[in-house]
Amino acid sequence: MLQHSCGYEANFHCKNCQSPLVHDDRIGLHCPQCGRRITTICPGCGRRW
Ligand SMILES: [Zn+2]
Ligand SMILES: [Zn+2]
Repeated sequence: MLQHSCGYEANFHCKNCQSPLVHDDRIGLHCPQCGRRITTICPGCGRRW
């Protein structure tokens, strides 16, 4: 489970390999398996995840 800075919690999965995404302060949201980076909007606050 990932938690956004606003407190919203969600699970994201990679569209390529279905792995759970992880968040890193430098890279942002990405897949640890295939390295794909994902930009998404937080459903809780509408800002970038
Ligand atoms: Zn992946
Ligand atoms: Zn948020």
